[in-house]
Amino acid sequence: MAIKTPVTIAYGNGIGPEIMQATLNILNAAKAHIAPEIIEVGEKIYLQGNTTGIPENAWESIKRTKVLLKGPITTPQGGGYKSLNVTMRKTLGLFANVRPCISYAPYVPTKFSHIDLVIVRENEEDTYSGIEHRSTDEVYQCLKLITRPGCERIIQYAFEYARKFNRKKVTCFSKDNIMKMTDGLFHHVFREIAAQYPDIQHEHLIVDIGTALIASHPERFDVIVTLNLYGDIISDVAAQVAGSVGLAGSANIGNQVAMFEAIHGSAPDIAGKDLANPSGLLNAAIQMLVHINQPEIASLIENAWLKTLEDGIHTGDIYSPAHSKKKVGTQEFATAVIERLGQKPSHFNSADYRPGAYTKIECYGEHSKIHSKKVLVGVDIFIDNSLDITADELAAKLAKIHGPLELIVITSRGLKIWPNSSIEAPYLRHCCCRFQSAKDINDLQSITHTDIITLLAQLNDLGFDTIKTENLYTFDGKLGYTLAQGQ
Ligand code: NAD
Repeated sequence: MAIKTPVTIAYGNGIGPEIMQATLNILNAAKAHIAPEIIEVGEKIYLQGNTTGIPENAWESIKRTKVLLKGPITTPQGGGYKSLNVTMRKTLGLFANVRPCISYAPYVPTKFSHIDLVIVRENEEDTYSGIEHRSTDEVYQCLKLITRPGCERIIQYAFEYARKFNRKKVTCFSKDNIMKMTDGLFHHVFREIAAQYPDIQHEHLIVDIGTALIASHPERFDVIVTLNLYGDIISDVAAQVAGSVGLAGSANIGNQVAMFEAIHGSAPDIAGKDLANPSGLLNAAIQMLVHINQPEIASLIENAWLKTLEDGIHTGDIYSPAHSKKKVGTQEFATAVIERLGQKPSHFNSADYRPGAYTKIECYGEHSKIHSKKVLVGVDIFIDNSLDITADELAAKLAKIHGPLELIVITSRGLKIWPNSSIEAPYLRHCCCRFQSAKDINDLQSITHTDIITLLAQLNDLGFDTIKTENLYTFDGKLGYTLAQGQ
């Protein structure tokens, strides 16, 4: 008898217990080799005063089994509660969010009957680092952090996924025409890694036209890899276009641990009524079975599920008189799937996950590859200009400053407002004064941190509120910062 793989199970909240029970019944009937360990996370734990929603014994189980199948969680309204999903992704290093998006026409209405794409979304970086500050009365900022190892491992994951799952093309979405350094890095790493996979086609699209194409021509996409925020948005666009928001599963993959769940929430409006469709969680469980190397059982269940859809046995959310034969509840739907174990669909392609093909994908990125010569050459000093003086008056005050650093440009929200600015009424309250060791970027010299501290002390003496500084570096002689618009 095959050894059973320990799997941590969280029933979740709202419809979670019903759809999890239905899913486990199907896994059990299909003789999945799993040994479930039940944990409690979410609403009840939040309300006990644990703001993460995850108690210590749950962490212990997840870290030991390394596989979590999770029902949806209700985040209680009101302050203080942290998103359980974000906490898990960060704590467990679940760097890849993998969302297959498939149309099931005509059984689930959609304008596009042949969507079969997978979104691989970076899961830990970008604006989701949650580093936000209020700088002035009126200005708030959110820091977008992108790392080279983070780009490397998500892009490598996308190509490895494409290769293992026999997909033909990986499309990268970024906005590097505007964010030349952060998104520029993502696109650059994409090109580097794509070159290592000559068997897989690759292309890059700016995220805005890319998203429009998902809405208008979703069938042209295969695997899409993108940064965290864009991935979050396009996942919902793609799921909506496919018409299958209630059917889609999602995997959160790390090198050690993986978490599988439906993409929908806990649906409190229908909880406890045996109305919920368990398909999203079941599809997540199928992804889990592939991940734990039980591809035959994954295929067995997926085929029975597809046959159930084809036979018109539908829960209320996808019921339509044209394509449904029987409206069923959650548990009856599960029974219908169980009755079809061993059958194959006739309208849809059969699932056939190849045995032995899905060894775990581990991607780390190369931390030690780069050793550039990093030289400090200046500083951007952001000022809350509560004095409300003009850019020329501000520059005149700053001209009194001594030392090796020279005022080069003053900007407001990235736009040059001094020198030689034609802007009539510059927004000056939040402005950035760029000091460099030389006016010409070809003549930049090394400065010290003490030079910057001396500069800050002088600004303080002049009565300025310096809200933030960003050091300006060159890396192997190349600028590590962008020029201001108009500079
Ligand atoms: P939701 O996805 O729970 O519900 C949206 C609508 O879809 C509701 O009308 C619901 O009845 C319906 N629906 C959802 N799943 C269904 C299913 N399987 N079968 C039939 N109908 C289904 O979204 P919401 O109402 O915005 O959120 C409810 C709660 O879920 C909130 O507390 C939210 O924070 C949480 N949530 C959790 C997760 C997660 O755990 N991953 C994801 C999203 C939302």
